[in-house]
Amino acid sequence: MEFLTRIRDFIVKDVENANETKRASVIMRSFSLIICIISLIQGICMAVFGEWGGVAVCLACLAGYAVLFYYTYLNRTRAALLCIVLSTLFWVILFIVMFGRSCGVQHFLFALLVFVLLVSHADTHHKMLMAAGLCMVGLVLYWYTEVGAPLLELGRGTLVMMQTSSTVGVFVAVSSIILLFGQDSLLREKKLVAYNEKLRETSSRDPLTKLYNRRAMLEYLHRQAEKVERYGNWFDVAIGDIDFFKKVNDTYGHEAGDAVLVRVAGILSAYMSDKGEVCRWGGEEFLLVFTDINGEQALEKLDELRLIISSQEIAYKEKKIRVTMTFGLDEYDNKKPIDDTIRSADQKLYIGKKGGRNRVVF
Ligand code: GH3
Ligand code: MG
Ligand code: MG
Repeated sequence: MEFLTRIRDFIVKDVENANETKRASVIMRSFSLIICIISLIQGICMAVFGEWGGVAVCLACLAGYAVLFYYTYLNRTRAALLCIVLSTLFWVILFIVMFGRSCGVQHFLFALLVFVLLVSHADTHHKMLMAAGLCMVGLVLYWYTEVGAPLLELGRGTLVMMQTSSTVGVFVAVSSIILLFGQDSLLREKKLVAYNEKLRETSSRDPLTKLYNRRAMLEYLHRQAEKVERYGNWFDVAIGDIDFFKKVNDTYGHEAGDAVLVRVAGILSAYMSDKGEVCRWGGEEFLLVFTDINGEQALEKLDELRLIISSQEIAYKEKKIRVTMTFGLDEYDNKKPIDDTIRSADQKLYIGKKGGRNRVVF
């Protein structure tokens, strides 16, 4: 069991190329391995019946596919694919020419068809051409065996063994390819959904404070504006800026400044969790949205928030840092673009700064 698990792990080993999935490589490995095993079985059958010419051909094929199997670990997916397709075509033609149609290897053209259609990245047009090409090879081989005798006349017993192993081999090859392909599609879909979700999350968050960034907030504001249009509710926009933040950096260092930003972001986020949304608008500025309350009510909330912030002692190493914030607030008016509300909140923030800071201007 342990041994089988190891073999499985070896076959499903991931590719090193970051932009490629292991699907194609795993299918190619399995396909090469199956033909290796078939060549081995057929070689043994030939040896049992004393067909030494056939043994040599089977061993040559076994060696060739062992090399191809190894090749799939070298991260050259396209080249490996091409080599496997050409080698399989060569293998089928060689066996038919050598041993005749009764050896049953021509059925591998179907396995090759499924392999090419599922693994290759070619477009539909090219895949159809490949399918037609394989069909032609099948027909030519049929016609050839109708007119020409095989180079090596195998005994009945050998042919029965070869036909049997080929039939089983084709079923195993086609089932493996389809099963591996289906399994990988599901896995890939799951991976993609999770990756997209993560991407969306990271692209809308500020890396330091983990709050929404400006882009995500603008989307949120536009959604709110649409709601106002539809339901007639209202919302308010406030911009808050930490007072004398440069001094925090100058006195305690940039890292302390970062710690203050993270702490303030935490306070704002906790306070706004049931009132609307908050983002890091830039540097030490935050934009807050109060939903479903009017400007007067938002003013009261902001004043409460301002007091919470000014009463906090932010611990950084052995230091205790205190900061205050100034806010500019405006109520959204659906007759004007959202940018006007943001600009107005910003102007009021400026007035608050001029007026002495640590206050809310509405
Ligand atoms: P005011 O009260 O007028 O707002 O004064 P202020 O010092 O807060 O404003 P000013 O615009 O002069 O300085 C803002 C400072 O914020 C300057 C900048 O270095 C700092 N800052 C911006 N982003 C970050 C950051 O991510 N981390 C740290 N530590 N500092 C930042
Ligand atoms: Mg400031
Ligand atoms: Mg500022």
